[in-house]
Amino acid sequence: MASTSASGTGADRPVVTRFAPSPTGFLHIGNARTGLFSWLYARHHGGKALLRIEDTDKQRSTQEAIDVILDGLDWLGLDFDGETVFQSQRADRHAEVAYKLLEAGRAYKCFATTEELAEMREQQKAAKQPMRYDGRWRDRDPSEAPEGAPFTVRIKSETSGETVIEDAVQGRVAVKNAEIDDFILLRADGTPTYMLAVVVDDMDMGCTHIIRGDDHLNNAFRQLQVIKAMQGIEDGWHEPTYAHIPLIHGNDGAKLSKRHGALGVDAYRDELGILPEALFNYLLRLGWGHGDKEDFTREEAIALFDLPGVNKGPSRFDMKKLLNMNGNYIRAADDARLAKIAAERLGPHADVALLTEAMPVLKTRARDMNELADGSAFLFKTRPLDLTDQASELLDEEARARLTVISARLSTESDWTIEALEANLKAYSEELGLGLGKLAQPLRAALTGQTTSPGIFDVLALLGREESLARIDAQAAG
Ligand code: GLU
Repeated sequence: MASTSASGTGADRPVVTRFAPSPTGFLHIGNARTGLFSWLYARHHGGKALLRIEDTDKQRSTQEAIDVILDGLDWLGLDFDGETVFQSQRADRHAEVAYKLLEAGRAYKCFATTEELAEMREQQKAAKQPMRYDGRWRDRDPSEAPEGAPFTVRIKSETSGETVIEDAVQGRVAVKNAEIDDFILLRADGTPTYMLAVVVDDMDMGCTHIIRGDDHLNNAFRQLQVIKAMQGIEDGWHEPTYAHIPLIHGNDGAKLSKRHGALGVDAYRDELGILPEALFNYLLRLGWGHGDKEDFTREEAIALFDLPGVNKGPSRFDMKKLLNMNGNYIRAADDARLAKIAAERLGPHADVALLTEAMPVLKTRARDMNELADGSAFLFKTRPLDLTDQASELLDEEARARLTVISARLSTESDWTIEALEANLKAYSEELGLGLGKLAQPLRAALTGQTTSPGIFDVLALLGREESLARIDAQAAG
């Protein structure tokens, strides 16, 4: 029985993985996870993590689309080894392999016309048979074809036995070879098919482990046909270990769509304000686990990541969990770094030094960098402040009268510290028989133009005496 097993083969060779994204205009979150897992696996085993851009679709593969991928990987901190391979530049080599297979009798020329193949499929469909190429040119002599007729090159797949993959995630998966058709390696115009290009590149790059989405599992059986056929022809064709990772679903269990968060990595950074270490950690946990541990540093991830920890079932994308995780990473992040990111969002009027100083207070609540920037915006507002509607409502006549008193009290405060300011206003709220919160709300509206902000004494301290009093006076009565 002809049987192919990918288990254990090449185990003695140093690990080489590859991440092979197609430039489609964005680095989809699921793809980024595949890249992360490939990279981590190589790093964990002290091997090489290679990157190949599958840019054979000339329409979509613009430099811009390629840059989006490179930029996203760089931002996530996935530094791949060696030169990036561009699949489009290797078409000659792909064709060379097809011709070697042809010469060795492991592939053949197929002269079937498009119309003929369409008719074949119609007949199969009508007979409720599986639709696949029927091997009509497999045993025919090419001399039977009309002179100069265009042809494709097809692999001569095995017809009996089965192909077995001991997938490192999916376990043992077998397909009867009779179900694998003689697929095309080279099109009539001489260009390689995706199926050929991928496997030639994987082998030439010396990949020992193919870690990718499980939507490619079916391709593996076909790709193994090429590998097996080439083994007798060229050195270096090893069956790799496959690890097909289950896809990511939305939190409702449906296929991940834009609504669930199927966005590009750049959108997580720019639109959602996620920090790279948070996305790294979240993607790591999405489909991989190590006991109950939730938070992993890069070093821990490298030390602990391995394929047995990858879940067999699909994972669910949970935006809330990502945001919570992001909030924790914001609180742990360096203040000057956060200040720089926030300043970029706030625009040229933002002062990085002031933001850095304010950051310990600002970062306590934000779950993303937009919230953090919004929460910092009050620092840079110019007088008279634009008030939100809610803030305006708080400033009724009574409140404005109290602001006058507050201004008078605070202007004599010699010690502009959180403690002194708090003691001062507490004393006033007790005089009034009011909770401190009642007093603080209109004050917040006057100082920030908003109804939410960091603690009111922090706000006073950060704005400083002069600016605080000016803002209060601008809203106070009379
Ligand atoms: N370029 C393919 C994709 O982006 C991946 C191919 C592979 O990993 O074999 O889906």
